[in-house]
Amino acid sequence: MPLALYDTWSRTVRPFTPIRAGHVGMYCCGPTVYDHAHIGNLRTYVFEDILRRSLTRNGFEVRHVVNITDVGHLTSDADEGEDKMEKGSRRTGESAWAIAQRYTEAFVADWHALHLLEPTVWCRATDHIAEQIALIGELERAGYVYRTDDGLYFDTGKQDNYGFLARLDRGGLQAGKRVAVGDKRSITDFALWKFSPIDVTRQMEWDSPWGRGFPGWHIECSAMSAKYLGIWFDIHCGGEDHVAVHHSNEIAQTQAAHGTRLANFWMHGHFLTLDADTKMSKSSGDFVRLQTLQRRNIDPVAYRYLCLTAHYRSQLHFSWASLDAAQTALNRLRRLYSGWPGGGRVDPDFAARFDAEVNEDLNLPRALAVLWELVKSNLPPATLRATVDSFDTVLGLGLREWRPAVFDIPENIAVLLSERERARAERNWARADEIRETLNALGWRVEDGKVGQRLIGITTDQTEIGSE
Ligand code: AMP
Ligand code: ZN
Repeated sequence: MPLALYDTWSRTVRPFTPIRAGHVGMYCCGPTVYDHAHIGNLRTYVFEDILRRSLTRNGFEVRHVVNITDVGHLTSDADEGEDKMEKGSRRTGESAWAIAQRYTEAFVADWHALHLLEPTVWCRATDHIAEQIALIGELERAGYVYRTDDGLYFDTGKQDNYGFLARLDRGGLQAGKRVAVGDKRSITDFALWKFSPIDVTRQMEWDSPWGRGFPGWHIECSAMSAKYLGIWFDIHCGGEDHVAVHHSNEIAQTQAAHGTRLANFWMHGHFLTLDADTKMSKSSGDFVRLQTLQRRNIDPVAYRYLCLTAHYRSQLHFSWASLDAAQTALNRLRRLYSGWPGGGRVDPDFAARFDAEVNEDLNLPRALAVLWELVKSNLPPATLRATVDSFDTVLGLGLREWRPAVFDIPENIAVLLSERERARAERNWARADEIRETLNALGWRVEDGKVGQRLIGITTDQTEIGSE
């Protein structure tokens, strides 16, 4: 079954055919680096990673571009308020540049902890100011730009289909507007370039033909995606919140300058929610980070597993219980997997079923169900391993690289273990059971597996603390 993907532009699941045979250009809106990413942001990147891996599994060569927003994202999407970077700088006392660097590094660390594949290109907004200025110049020449006291704005009134991506009701918006329009001609107009205030020296500002200042948030993605992928590429991704404003504006800019809607497919990951209607937001300051999970001894890969259990186009409600369940399932899979020998072949029936689910708009929950059905089947263990290995190229759980945590075993316990190993070899089951009891009394549980004894440390509250 060929790959079919949901496209927000057409609002349909349609067959995916690349613009250039065999190759896929994919642009993903990256983080605004004024603070840590929260696990909601990370859900969107996991979805994009699954998409990329699925494209690769379908034989396409993927060029994956991710930007880093380190300037221009204002605290309000209506181009009001402060630059998030400069605000972050006031909060921590560091320079905006140092903050951007620090949170970019933290973000990349999260990226790797979640087994997200390295993008072909990472691009920073501040490294592409010239490209953004050039694009604003083109928009100006095409007649889409007007000037107010505080900046240059894109005139959305000049585009009949502005906001089509979001099926925006422009008339309704204008009539019911709740945000200040200021000197803007229309509520949907947006900043391309903001002037530095006369009385304040900004940390991040540049000269331009229109005056000293900084780019608006949307122009960076139109400029950088065109630079690295061209003005008409295959897939543009982001979270669902980007549909109405950010992506609608990227399309408006590119259409005005180049006559294309930038990408053939527009794909959006739905939100991770904390409770029924609270979206996670960095600006609320109350969010869960990957490090929050790690502090609770939860493996980042368990969070990845949790993301796979929900379709990317449905909301995923976060709870600690669901994360624990994901960790338990992942641990089980890892233990089973590590007991299977190599040298087997992929089972073609299970592989075809798995691929059919993946290719139907990335139905990972159903693909996972196929995986568990496989694991519970009575196929030879070597076949299980080879087939799960092949699934893992999409799932990205890193099963092949996983090693059980090794911890220090106290001397007396080690002596008892080897004594028990000897008793087992001599088929002295009574002695082996006796030693098991002794170990239990000392706080250790021992399990007999195919490949020998497995030791599990038990804390006083009966939770497992590790295994070997
Ligand atoms: P930001 O760093 O705020 O620019 O967001 C980075 C990415 O995370 C964007 O693609 C957002 O759409 C996405 N995002 C923000 N909040 C959530 C959430 N609660 N769940 C899933 N994705 C989100
Ligand atoms: Zn973007």
